[in-house]
Amino acid sequence: THDVHIIGGGLAGSEAAWQLALRGVSVRLSEMRGGGGSTPAHQTDGLAELVCSNSFRSDDDTRNAVGLLHHEMRRLDSLVMRAGERARVPAGSAMAVDRDVFSEEVQRTLDEHPRVTVVREVVETLPEAGLTIVATGPLTAARLAESIVGATGADRLAFFDAIAPIVHRESIDMDVCWIQSRWNKRTKASNDGGDYINCPMIKEQYEAFVQGLLDAEKGEFKEWEAGTPYFDGCMPIEVMAERGVETLRYGPMKGVGLDNPHDRTPEHPQGRWPYAVVQLRQDNALGTLWNMVGFQTKMKWGAQKELFRTIPGLEKAEFARLGGMHRNTFINSPLLLDRQLRLKSAPHIRFAGQITGCEGYVESSAVGLMAGIMTATELTGESWTPPPATSAMGALLSHITGDAEATHFQPMNVNFGLFPPMHEVKKKQRKEAYTSRAKTDFGEWLTQIERVPA
Ligand code: FAD
Repeated sequence: THDVHIIGGGLAGSEAAWQLALRGVSVRLSEMRGGGGSTPAHQTDGLAELVCSNSFRSDDDTRNAVGLLHHEMRRLDSLVMRAGERARVPAGSAMAVDRDVFSEEVQRTLDEHPRVTVVREVVETLPEAGLTIVATGPLTAARLAESIVGATGADRLAFFDAIAPIVHRESIDMDVCWIQSRWNKRTKASNDGGDYINCPMIKEQYEAFVQGLLDAEKGEFKEWEAGTPYFDGCMPIEVMAERGVETLRYGPMKGVGLDNPHDRTPEHPQGRWPYAVVQLRQDNALGTLWNMVGFQTKMKWGAQKELFRTIPGLEKAEFARLGGMHRNTFINSPLLLDRQLRLKSAPHIRFAGQITGCEGYVESSAVGLMAGIMTATELTGESWTPPPATSAMGALLSHITGDAEATHFQPMNVNFGLFPPMHEVKKKQRKEAYTSRAKTDFGEWLTQIERVPA
């Protein structure tokens, strides 16, 4: 009897329910906590529980991509931002909240809304019909995960998410590095003469680097993560280093077949092979983000930054994200979803939140917000105009629904590397340029979106 069924009352599901209700759509919101289900990280039955930190990160909408996302969500009357404002605690330029007040606020707003029915139940299979939004998050319950595997043809869904650091291309020193594929093999169409950026190391640098890996401070695995399988080929780099000083030089740091044009000799006019190498592979269609191949790691973030900036050419590296490993459930969105977050093989089902491969409270909420508006638009039969790719929402949406490399798709926070580049603007002014372009374009888009008052 409801127009839309949302599965999962976390950040994304709650925001989607609110956006639909705002537009006159009735929603059944199924949340398993309080209905016989639980996750290893949630502690309460409250909707939109924040499982870890209490921060929505930077609230600076002039120089920060997540701050810009806050701004755009506020303009769309986001429930997460509203409740966040009410629950706000002092945190400088960041936005932090009292997690209990926040969750209670979300819960109360949805409980009181006449068009939202919150049902405490574990949903075990994807509905065969009816407009549905799946927002079950990184800790999606096992049965439903199996059902999603069945519908998407993936071999598995929950695994240790092994994330290698991702670097902003413009922060890489190309006077030291060069672009080339090993043995000049091309693995995909490449207009740069190769698919990899190579950072060369001499013997002393390599040995110091391996020692650095052994000495660095590492994060602990949580107990509940213990049973989850490793994703293929995702052994942390420091674990490889423990196996012997040469292990990495026979693995991801192998220098053979790579001619360093900055190290030419008469015998090696093309350039000598480096003793060891760190390779980066393009991570997004725009070519602004490059990931460090084979560098998944459990090292603490501070230790990663310090050590990875000792790599020749990466001394000034700016990281779009650092490496990490934790249990995560997400689908290969660029492959499986259309531009409106619908499952290509079953378009009555939309995905939203972290399960789409965005990462973080704010990003998950923003994707929930967009899924809500898309579904409402679909119900009215109007055509959908996506937010501009120059906005934070648009950039995030473009990334997860097509711009990211499907073969190596990894969860991603919002960051300026996902935005169409502005090379013409001086680096110092670029952040402001991104946000001011975004605000103009987003404002224009808003005027095209009909918003029905509550
Ligand atoms: P969730 O908020 O997890 O919501 C999903 C909801 O679906 C849950 O309420 C769950 O109970 C419900 N559900 C699952 N399966 C079913 C089912 N079959 N039937 C019915 N209901 C179901 N992000 C940050 O920004 N900062 C952090 O510090 C941070 N720390 C994290 C720590 C851990 C351990 C994990 C796992 C994630 C962390 N994240 C963090 C990421 C964070 O989980 C997400 O960013 C955010 O919560 C995702 O929102 P979501 O709505 O997609 O999923």
